[in-house]
Amino acid sequence: MLNRTTGIAVTAGVGLTLSTALLSTLSACGHDRHRVHAAADRTRQPSSARPTTRAPTRAAPSRAVDCAVARCVALTFDDGPGRHTERLLDLLRPTRARVTFFVVGRQVRPNAAVVRRIVAEGHEIGNHTWSHARLPGLSEEAIRAEIDRTQDAVHEAAGVRPRVFRPPYAVTDARVGRAAGLPQVMWSVDPMDWRPSGPGRRERMVDEIVRDTRPGDIVLLHDVHGPTVSAAPELVTRLRRKGYELVTVSDLFRGVPLRPGAPYRHRRAEEP
Ligand SMILES: [Zn+2]
Repeated sequence: MLNRTTGIAVTAGVGLTLSTALLSTLSACGHDRHRVHAAADRTRQPSSARPTTRAPTRAAPSRAVDCAVARCVALTFDDGPGRHTERLLDLLRPTRARVTFFVVGRQVRPNAAVVRRIVAEGHEIGNHTWSHARLPGLSEEAIRAEIDRTQDAVHEAAGVRPRVFRPPYAVTDARVGRAAGLPQVMWSVDPMDWRPSGPGRRERMVDEIVRDTRPGDIVLLHDVHGPTVSAAPELVTRLRRKGYELVTVSDLFRGVPLRPGAPYRHRRAEEP
C-alpha cells in the first residue's frame, strides 16, 4: 500500500521536471488539517540574525553516521507541532533515534517549548510554510513570506533556522523553489498514515514501511496523527533490526551539497 514515488538522484537530475510529478502525487498532506513543517538547522545562527527572547538551545550530540556507506533512513513528521508531538518526543527519547519535524510556522509560537525540546533532543526542524499553503498559487512575495515567517518563528523559539523545506500537499514548481530559497525535501516512502485507523492498521503500516524501505529513503509521517505516534517505537525497533540508522534529513545528506530550490526525495546515486 505504500506510495513509492519515483526517486530523484541526488548527484544528478534534480531538474525542474519534478514539478509535474509532485503535482500529481497523492500526498498525506492532501487534506486541510495537514500543516507544513520544515527541517531546522541545528547549527547555531549568527546572533545578528534576529534578537531572540530566549537563549539558543544546545542540541544534544548525535553519533556521526556516514550515510554514504551506512544504511540510513530519515523519518519525517509533518504538520506539527501539535497535541501528539510531545508524546512522540517522549517515545523517541529512549531510542535515541533522530528524526525531522517539518513544522507549520503559525503553530510554532503557541508550542515554543515543544519546538525547543525538538532541537534540544537532537532532532531537526524543517520549514513546512507558515499556513500550510498551496504555494504555486501564490505570488513570489507571498511564497517568501510563508517561508520567512516560519524561519523567524523557529529561530525565535529555538535559536535555529531550518535548512530545508517541504511544500504542503507536495505541490511545487520551479518558481516556488526559487522563491523559497531552501532545498525542497520530499519523500520516497509514503505509508499514507493519515488514512483512518482500523483493526490492525497500525501493524500493517509498520509492516509496509519496514518491508519497502531501502537505504537512503525518506519516510513521510505525521505527528498530528495519534496512531502514527504510537507506532513510532516499534517502527524504530524494526528498522534497526534490519540494520538501519535513524537519522535526520541533514544527516542523511551530509556530504551532499543540497541546492536551494532543488527537490530531493532520497539519498541514492541513482534508481535501480
Ligand atoms: Zn503537510
